[in-house]
Amino acid sequence: MSFKNFPMVSRVIYGRGSFNQLDEIISSKRQGREAPFIYFVDDVFKGNHWLTSRITLSYRDKIIYIPTEEEPRTSQIDQLVEDIILEFSERPSGIIGIGGGIVMDIAKAVSLMLTNEGESKDYQGWDLIKNSAIYHVGVPTISGTGAEVSRTTILTGPDKKLGINSDYTPFDQVILDPELTKDVPKHQWFYTGMDCFIHCIESLNGTFLNAFSQSYGEKAFDICKEVFLSDGLSEKESQDKLMMASWHGGMSIAYSQVGVAHAMSYGLGYLLGIKHGIGNCIVFEHLEEFYPEGVELFKQMKAKHKIELPKGICTDLDQNQLDIMIDVAYSLEPLWENALGKNWKSKITRDKLQELYLKM
Ligand code: NAD
Ligand code: ZN
Repeated sequence: MSFKNFPMVSRVIYGRGSFNQLDEIISSKRQGREAPFIYFVDDVFKGNHWLTSRITLSYRDKIIYIPTEEEPRTSQIDQLVEDIILEFSERPSGIIGIGGGIVMDIAKAVSLMLTNEGESKDYQGWDLIKNSAIYHVGVPTISGTGAEVSRTTILTGPDKKLGINSDYTPFDQVILDPELTKDVPKHQWFYTGMDCFIHCIESLNGTFLNAFSQSYGEKAFDICKEVFLSDGLSEKESQDKLMMASWHGGMSIAYSQVGVAHAMSYGLGYLLGIKHGIGNCIVFEHLEEFYPEGVELFKQMKAKHKIELPKGICTDLDQNQLDIMIDVAYSLEPLWENALGKNWKSKITRDKLQELYLKM
């Protein structure tokens, strides 16, 4: 038996307004006038003076706004890396990602691919990265994915949707400023928050669970119940707490794994471009046989916040399309092994997956 020896975020600052300290935090990392800091910023903040005025650009520093209609693709990462190499004579001093899971994953992936040769699709998988990344900073502006703390960056490539999981992926610095989440639209708050809730359920009900991962998972689970089911919290408290739930949920899966909902949601994402948060919700609702208590709570949360999910998204798919989704979901072996144990193949067949997809 060999135990995982995994890296964590080296530095983290927490608090409302802590984003103001960004400049001060990164200034000692500047490698020179020609080595810029590159800011990837969710394009929802374009023209948002409240946030962007607090980013100080010096020398050749640059903001690149990132659209978030689609999740990151390996080709997009390769293009961003090439643009940076062509535009600047020196490697950047650092990459700073300010946004949701999409922008944070892009910041992680670009910082890795600036120091590792070839195309990002070649690194989708586990521990394929050879060189440490450029200094990279994550600033979440919406809570739930745990991308701020995880050792992966999830990318859609030409033939798979799979993360670059490596010891070099986690951020060197994270800024947790819950105030940055104040304008998240309600439905998005729910979908991304449910990602955290589902991380907890899948981790706590998985065969990989140990006391380390349980301690984080239970905390995140309790916070999610408080945020999504109780009436006692002010808006600020709710933002503060959900940001910490996301962190703990991410820490919980660091030493375990996600499960059935994530495996199937990757299939929906790959074929239909359905995004991670909402995709997890669409799938999770139909998983009562795997996660009875979790699904029951999820339904209560969904009703309380009057969230409507799309229905019938797979009804018009042909067999070939269903097979593609099933291939993607079925290939995520660690997720299934966590959910159902070593003999998972005897417990979940392709027919069963198809039957579940057709309900969605
Ligand atoms: P997102 O990045 O898809 O953003 C969702 C929407 O919220 C976007 O429209 C964005 O513009 C908007 N938004 C973000 N912050 C806002 C704010 N403060 N105010 C107003 N609008 C705001 O959302 P997400 O759910 O955080 O991330 C999903 C992505 O994260 C997927 O690509 C998924 O694959 C990835 N992910 C990564 C990990 C990991 O460990 N690396 C884990 C889970 C999910
Ligand atoms: Zn997730």
